[in-house]
Amino acid sequence: MRVRFAPSPTGFLHMGNARTAIINYLIAKKNSSAMVLRIEDTDRERSTRESEESIYRDLAWLGIAWDEGPDVGGVYGPYRQSERFGLYRTYTDRLMREGNAYHCYCTREELEEIKKGPDGGAESYVYSGRCRTLSDGERKKFEADGRKPTVRFRVPGNVPVVVQDRVKGPVEFNSSNIGGDFIIVRSDGIPVFNYIVIIDDALMNISLVIRGDDHLSNTPKQLLVARALDLPEPEYAHLPLIMGPDRSKLSKRHGITSVEMYRKQGYLPEALMNYMAMLGWSSESGAEILPLGEIVRQIDLANLSKNAPVFDFQKLRWMNGNYIRDYPLSAVTDLFIPHIIQAGYPADTIDRGRLEDIVSILRKYCEILSDIGHLAGIFFDEVCEPDEEADTMLKSEDGGTVIRAVRGLIRSELTEENFAVDLISRVKEATSLKGKSLFMPVRAVITGRQKGPELDQAMPLIGYDKCKKRIEYCYARYCT
Ligand code: GLU
Repeated sequence: MRVRFAPSPTGFLHMGNARTAIINYLIAKKNSSAMVLRIEDTDRERSTRESEESIYRDLAWLGIAWDEGPDVGGVYGPYRQSERFGLYRTYTDRLMREGNAYHCYCTREELEEIKKGPDGGAESYVYSGRCRTLSDGERKKFEADGRKPTVRFRVPGNVPVVVQDRVKGPVEFNSSNIGGDFIIVRSDGIPVFNYIVIIDDALMNISLVIRGDDHLSNTPKQLLVARALDLPEPEYAHLPLIMGPDRSKLSKRHGITSVEMYRKQGYLPEALMNYMAMLGWSSESGAEILPLGEIVRQIDLANLSKNAPVFDFQKLRWMNGNYIRDYPLSAVTDLFIPHIIQAGYPADTIDRGRLEDIVSILRKYCEILSDIGHLAGIFFDEVCEPDEEADTMLKSEDGGTVIRAVRGLIRSELTEENFAVDLISRVKEATSLKGKSLFMPVRAVITGRQKGPELDQAMPLIGYDKCKKRIEYCYARYCT
């Protein structure tokens, strides 16, 4: 088996394409077969090398490796369609020679007129076939007028075309209902992707085409071309497109949709891979977090849902939080560093052991790496400005009682040696408060918040001097 991922380099890798790449990769791995990366850059205006590079980067970041492609080479190259134009010309010539394609001289304006029709707007446009049967004389006249022809494929009438689809089962089309003769080469000589895709799939020996089901309606056209050129027909697996929570096609409106943005916000590639790989099917045990090897073992195109999966942003965050918690500490610390720096704290210059201790405490509260930005201040800031909840607590009666007690203690019996261990019990003795009425105000004084890490773990890392400053700050602010 050979599979391929064939992105057009016209922008960032978005989630739909990332999923197609992931499923191709997993199926290739499962079958120990080769995965080809083919760059479909026939749209010369919109295709860019930057986009191509970003696709490589995003795929590599996700952990997807390809065996053949423009960057790694391979025996079926070149792997960029723009470098294969000469090859396609041979096939176009053959289609023309054998009467399966013809020159069409209709101008854009004329086609617009045909499209509008006498009623002023046809629902689905079918080319009228005006240039199908031009005489030599008519052709010459158009050429003399300087018209540059497109090449159209001559679609045979009333031929059944069955797409063998591993996800959807056999999907039957009739050639009479696929939109009529379609353009395969534009008037500027550039072939249309919908035509050359099937040539490349054949020449690159692709046996299974896994792609989004927005391409399903192109497939009968591609298969008719394959038949006209005696090319082998691959099998297909069309993946239902991903929906947003409101069941409309996933788009920016729903949240971030490019792999690059997920990377920047601090999602881990392993989590994104896990989540995306399992959209539309469930594991044998129902577990949602599975190691890659297990996903490869269990994935089966026949079990993929035929319905469009809904992208659950919350679930992805939750899953990412799990991966963050289970990651090796040193590796996850490296991943957190840029996010801590971004929040304005010197994570790159502080003692590594201390940083790892901080990360080991804070990662429990992070679903994505950038969450650490709002938490790191607990350890790095001299004084933590109380947030709204902490402020309310500190203004309450218990709050005042605790601030006064804790200030008295830190000025007398609590020292650098014993404060972290004894602070809570001494405040308890001094105030007779207990449970939440004790812990919440102490937490508010020391961290400026009502949620967060255990105080007995956090205080030694915050350090005596900072704790003292924060206590004095709260006293000055709330008790004077
Ligand atoms: N280049 C097409 C796209 O990016 C994919 C074509 C295919 O997979 O057959 O949508």
